[in-house]
Amino acid sequence: MSFKDKVVLVTGGSRGIGRACAVAFAKAGASTVIISYAGNEAAAQETVGLLTAEGAKAESLRFDVSDTAACTSAVEGIVKAHGRLDVLVNNAGMAVDGLVMRVKDEDWDKQLDTNLRGPFALIRAASRPMMKQRGGAIVNITSVVGDMGNPGQAAYSAAKAGLIGLTKTVARELSSRGIRVNAVSPGFIGTDMTAHLNDDLRQKMTEGIPLGRLGNPEEVAQAVLFLSGDASSYITGEVLKVNGGMYM
Ligand code: NAP
Repeated sequence: MSFKDKVVLVTGGSRGIGRACAVAFAKAGASTVIISYAGNEAAAQETVGLLTAEGAKAESLRFDVSDTAACTSAVEGIVKAHGRLDVLVNNAGMAVDGLVMRVKDEDWDKQLDTNLRGPFALIRAASRPMMKQRGGAIVNITSVVGDMGNPGQAAYSAAKAGLIGLTKTVARELSSRGIRVNAVSPGFIGTDMTAHLNDDLRQKMTEGIPLGRLGNPEEVAQAVLFLSGDASSYITGEVLKVNGGMYM
């Protein structure tokens, strides 16, 4: 798979799955890989170093994806600077866990704004240049909990399930312009997001995974790469599970 001359934006590329995706694009020859991040400057700079080591032009943009105006200006800035945007990976995300009866309105809003409205705003902004180019690929990172629900994650799973609906609708809207829109649904992946789980919970979760282990970010990145490139040229509106068989 070659991404030669492609301009790629991976949100939340400073760490975890986003970093693995960004590095995978750079390894696959993308000419320009732009990562966004919320505030972890050191991690973002480390990713930029990994990308340039692979020979890609790399830059990091700090903005909050829940700020729709910031999403719009980020995409406009990329297109102004690089002339195009070929791939958008909506990866930035976060969760605030808590049983539904204790969920605060502000935590609900934050999770919906970050995990659903952010991707919507970035897709809206990216669709214009992609339509002009008559091509592009968008990959949204949803979650196994959007597929199956999870106690303690009402807002997060609602946002991720919403992202699946958004993926399918935009796939239908943009298909005639050669733009494909898909989602990757990871199971439990070893990143900072799952680092807080205690050993007991980790073991219980692992017992429910047929492949018997957590996934790693690079395994998710390979699915993202596939859905972003020509190898998946006849696939749109699809949700590709990368969950070790945890939910089939
Ligand atoms: P992570 O290690 O916690 O990294 C999160 C990334 O998102 C960081 O780059 C962070 O930036 C960025 N971010 C968070 N909130 C943001 C905001 N409001 N605006 C802009 N950027 C923001 O997460 P991960 O585990 O790699 O997860 C990546 C994606 O996969 C998320 O959408 C997550 O929901 C999804 N996912 C993860 C798992 C899993 O088991 N890990 C499973 C299913 C789905 P900073 O570094 O600046 O904080």
